[in-house]
Amino acid sequence: MRSRRHTAYIGTMTSRVPSYAPETVLVDAGRPDRRDGASVNPPIELSSTFVGSGEIDHSDYVYGRFSTPAWTPFEEALAELEHAELPGLVFGSGLAAIAAALSLVPRDGTLIMPRHCYQGSLESAGELAERSGFTLTTVDIADTAAVVNALDDVAAASAMLWIESPTNPMLEVADTPALISAARDRGILTVVDNTFATPLLQTPLDLGADVVVHSVTKYLAGHSDVVLGAAVTSSEDLHKRLHSERSLRGAIAGPFEVWLALRGLRTLSVRMERAQANAALIAERLSSHPSVVETRYPGLPGDPGHERAAAQLSGFGAVVAFCTQTAQQATAVAEAVRVWTPATSLGGVESLIERRRRNASEPESVPDGLLRLSVGIEHADDLWNDLDAALRTAHSP
Ligand SMILES: *Cc1c(COP(=O)(O)O)cnc(C)c1O
Repeated sequence: MRSRRHTAYIGTMTSRVPSYAPETVLVDAGRPDRRDGASVNPPIELSSTFVGSGEIDHSDYVYGRFSTPAWTPFEEALAELEHAELPGLVFGSGLAAIAAALSLVPRDGTLIMPRHCYQGSLESAGELAERSGFTLTTVDIADTAAVVNALDDVAAASAMLWIESPTNPMLEVADTPALISAARDRGILTVVDNTFATPLLQTPLDLGADVVVHSVTKYLAGHSDVVLGAAVTSSEDLHKRLHSERSLRGAIAGPFEVWLALRGLRTLSVRMERAQANAALIAERLSSHPSVVETRYPGLPGDPGHERAAAQLSGFGAVVAFCTQTAQQATAVAEAVRVWTPATSLGGVESLIERRRRNASEPESVPDGLLRLSVGIEHADDLWNDLDAALRTAHSP
């Protein structure tokens, strides 16, 4: 872990020390070489171009759109966390990483996607399907038999299965190991959006997934101050294609954003621990609140995804969804809160609340009165009292 790799991106990583626990990797990965007087943290490297006069060797730094030392520490940390054989690929946003992964679907192929997943992924896939002529099929990702049927209906060589679990914003839990293995058996490429779970809760490459994508904007960076994405794979071929997509489309990350993301990553395990504990408490109280119609959180013993989540994930995450009777009540709750911030996005230290259907492109199968909570790291009592008071205000005539 200590030997800094100064090659740029393609090629294998230096042999890794038998792994530390993820909490340690988060703190340790991507540090500069240890020598007296050296900086403990990587610097913010600001250079668009790199010295060279011979034939261009893409395993070294050449030009800032191809790769830069500003990305390397974060990309190495990501690879270690997701158990990838190759460095991660940082992108200018989660959606840029997703678009690069979607470019792997062949022209006349089929993309199988959860009907509830990040709405931007669905929109991006839908638009790309029309333009490039692949078929987009949406499935209930929690219904394993239905997904396997969809897999059986497609030509393996040109298909991709997209998994998001738990899903945004419905918190459905897929049988990720079973689905990845079914796709693998049929030679179908699998991509997992691991934004909600983070590599602390699940590492899909270990299950045989081909690519993992992240909105780094959310938990990994963790402070609602950057927009950033990443893709991770252990396949040389897929790495080359994703890298080429990044270089040719140019959806690259800025050095300062990547530096902030690595800084944020250092505290991921303590942030997740607190946020998950808060989420569990809030979900439990919401589930018996008189003004709440339904609460979805995989950590609730009665939740449809509970058993799977308990078996597959090393935690239940910190996103909670609940429904009020009407959209008006949900909007009133989001307007009445003071500790929570009414805003989209998730994964930051501050707690956010959003009625998802305020976005016109959210699927209609998401209930009108559904509020998504991104539970942060404030004191649980303050979060609960604020939410409870807002619910009462919203329901008083
Ligand atoms: C936010 C989000 C994205 C998109 O990432 P950006 O960084 O906003 O581009 C993708 N997937 C999931 C699950 C998300 O929550």
